[in-house]
Amino acid sequence: MKFGGSSLKDPERIRNVAAIVQKEEETGPVAVVLSAMQGITDSLIGAAKSAEAGDPSYRSNLSDMRERVLKTATELVGRGEVTESLEVMLDELEEILHGIELVRECSPRSLDLVQSFGERMNCTVVAALLSAEGSPAVMTDARELVRTDDNHLSANVDFEITYRQIEEKLGSYEAAGEIPVITGFIGSTNEGVTTTLGRNGSDYSASIMGAGLRAEAIEIWTDVDGVMSADPRIVPNAFVVPEVSFEEAMELSYFGAKVIHPYTMIPAVDRTIPVWIRNTLNPEAPGTRIAKDAAKSEKPITGIASIDGAALINVQGGGMVGMPGVASKVFSIMAECKANIIMISQASSEHSICMVLRESETERALHALREGLREEVRAKKIQNFELIRDLEIVSIIGDKMRGTPGISGRLFKSLGDNEINVLAIAQGSSERNISFVVQTAQREDTLKTVHQAFLE
Ligand code: ADP
Ligand code: ASP
Ligand code: MG
Repeated sequence: MKFGGSSLKDPERIRNVAAIVQKEEETGPVAVVLSAMQGITDSLIGAAKSAEAGDPSYRSNLSDMRERVLKTATELVGRGEVTESLEVMLDELEEILHGIELVRECSPRSLDLVQSFGERMNCTVVAALLSAEGSPAVMTDARELVRTDDNHLSANVDFEITYRQIEEKLGSYEAAGEIPVITGFIGSTNEGVTTTLGRNGSDYSASIMGAGLRAEAIEIWTDVDGVMSADPRIVPNAFVVPEVSFEEAMELSYFGAKVIHPYTMIPAVDRTIPVWIRNTLNPEAPGTRIAKDAAKSEKPITGIASIDGAALINVQGGGMVGMPGVASKVFSIMAECKANIIMISQASSEHSICMVLRESETERALHALREGLREEVRAKKIQNFELIRDLEIVSIIGDKMRGTPGISGRLFKSLGDNEINVLAIAQGSSERNISFVVQTAQREDTLKTVHQAFLE
């Protein structure tokens, strides 16, 4: 059972989480994975960045955090061993931040260490609360379980070692009748250096633990009733989808359904374990079941997702026609400068390659392309690099789209009828996803229009 920051934002919600865990424990052994309390990871990153900039305001951020954490813990378990160990952690954090301030540098490695405090403090509190309520629980540091490489801020998991460590170290808790309360989001390298799995990575941690333990189910508890047909904050008519396949869940989350981290499905697929999305604020609701044998949706598509803050780079030129290797060169340059391409389309005229990426990465990418393709530009094989900002990628997703004619016709007709201009389109041959790009200003209209065309 994994609980996200939204389910852990204050003492009341934390108590509610403990009650849900205790109820589940009555039916069989449970392992718990937790995120940091809501907002703590952001505050930790903010404090590290301020310290790096020599801005002393990180000290007041830290004392606010100290107050919030200690107040929550005191309210839940009183003052004593727990608040003392939190004080020790907070003092250590203060020293690390001071070190960052002195050297005016926060490497990704240091940032990972700073971020790890959120999950570690939270698990300390919740384990103590469960124990105090009569369910013996042990704070379990995932750095002893999840082995990763040193790709800080988004480390890659070594599954062989990780599964082995989980089996060895978590197996004994079950035998002892204790609940491990495991830190999500963090891991460590073979040198014992702290790493993180990327923002929102606790979902992934939960699935790694579930697979390592060969659990019956992996439950991701959050603040909505399940995976919804669209982001409920933008589309009020969005509804809960009872079942989705692993592939659909992966596509939905990759294309912006923020309810679950896209990597969560990897360990679950690996060991064929169903993933449930459940609501801590409404535990009676059945939630969404993500599984291999998910029932197909009755609607033509399963859901809609979208990614904001996108921009488009168009590489254009007559000299690219019939010239093998230009596309490969473009993509190598993008990889070298670590710009992540979310969507690509190339028309069969080969006259242009259009890439959509995060707005924050476009300057770097454009610079690298201009440098790397200087010869081609000089020889006039490439005429122009076009950049368009303030875009949104919208995707319609569903296994049922496969082999069903007329979906794209219906999609683009609905957009045309509502005067929504499409800047680029891509459909993978899996036919499980059609993605297109619109201006950010038309995001809300687009999502509502498409939801209405297919799902209402
Ligand atoms: P947690 O703190 O539990 O990890 P998150 O904030 O990361 O929770 O994710 C849950 C939120 O994701 C929901 O509150 C909802 O607003 C948002 N969300 C975006 N797209 C979807 C979707 N398709 N289905 C459900 N929730 C979505
Ligand atoms: N606390 C981490 C974050 O905010 C991980 C998570 O919540 O899943 O990104
Ligand atoms: Mg999350």
